[in-house]
Amino acid sequence: MAFGLSDRVKEIAPSPTLSIDTKTKELVSQGYDIINLSVGEPDFGTPEPAANAGIEAIKAGFTKYTAVPGIVDLRKAIARKLKEENGLDYEMEDIIVSNGAKHSLYNAFMAVCNPGDEVILPAPYWVSYPEMIRLSGAVPVVIETDESTGFKITPEMLERAVTPKTKVLLLNSPSNPTGAVYSPDELKALAKVIEKHEFYVMSDEIYEKLVYGIEQISIASVSEAMKQRALIVNGFSKTFAMTGWRVGYIAGDRAVIKAMTSFQSHTTANPTSISQKAAVKALECFDSEMVDRFRNRRDYVLQRINEMPLITCIEPQGAFYVFPNVAEILGKSFKGQTIDSANTFAGLLLEHANIALVPGEGFGAPNNIRISYAVSDDHLKKAMDRLEQFLREVE
Ligand code: PMP
Ligand code: GLU
Repeated sequence: MAFGLSDRVKEIAPSPTLSIDTKTKELVSQGYDIINLSVGEPDFGTPEPAANAGIEAIKAGFTKYTAVPGIVDLRKAIARKLKEENGLDYEMEDIIVSNGAKHSLYNAFMAVCNPGDEVILPAPYWVSYPEMIRLSGAVPVVIETDESTGFKITPEMLERAVTPKTKVLLLNSPSNPTGAVYSPDELKALAKVIEKHEFYVMSDEIYEKLVYGIEQISIASVSEAMKQRALIVNGFSKTFAMTGWRVGYIAGDRAVIKAMTSFQSHTTANPTSISQKAAVKALECFDSEMVDRFRNRRDYVLQRINEMPLITCIEPQGAFYVFPNVAEILGKSFKGQTIDSANTFAGLLLEHANIALVPGEGFGAPNNIRISYAVSDDHLKKAMDRLEQFLREVE
């Protein structure tokens, strides 16, 4: 018996990336031969030493509550990583570990946003950002971008979006869903605008190591002024293929970290004890071969798509997604059914071509679709053959 739901939850939709993935996995378990290009999850396994550290933690009885922001070893290891890889000085008190980067982001919005505050959100954006922003009471102020700027905002676009109510700018480079990566010069140009104002920059760098032929830096490393404004978000799901372990973190202003820790102490408390032990080990286990394999897959998918009719795709420089434009398909039909949206297109692909992917609507990009190429080479080839066959039948 339901006695009504809060307005808060009535306003949010379920995550389309996760719901399409769940539906696909269900169909696959029923025997359907569907290739799942929907969810952003590496097909590689967790590095063995990290997995073993988790097992050892269980055996050693490291199965109790830990400090709310994470164990000392992990926060110190993250601080070391930020110093060595990003040239950034943080102490463990400037870091909070949470149950996945999604959790980190949610906590951060809850810690810094008041109702009515504005969060500048470049589109296409990852599906969960607008919902989290709204849950915190803040208002997403979307800056639309498309292929013409490589799906990136320019300093002029940013300047136009800033108002006295701006509390946060969200940047996600490399980007989910577009794979766009801001170059160091582009970040410096954005920083010039940001430094004139007073707001946080939430910089989601979860795909930082998955870049192909471009230098990736953290916007926090551009200047001291940027470091003061930055809340760096990162996690273990992508780089270390640890999606199920649920470990993410934020480094930033100590007062914000303290507030997030208070908030987290009343909601989830510490991240999983055994996952934290695995994460300490994972930081020593980055496998650069994985990057080469993703790069080969990206090149393959890009080439195949750009040889197909009615669909085009610009080259993404990071993450493991391509984000083709399907505007030319919209309005055409397949077996007598009009393809009136990316959503309909994705539905028809699932039904008639046995491919699951995510339509662009949830990313704020209704002319695009997202393909995750974090699947085996065999599956990728089969999926591209199926997509091509489908497109040849569109009229
Ligand atoms: N940020 C981005 C851009 C993502 O694509 C994801 C999805 N995995 C996350 C954050 C959250 O990752 P997790 O919660 O698994 O650490
Ligand atoms: N971030 C991944 C994706 O976009 C995982 C699913 C999710 O949390 O959205 O597919």
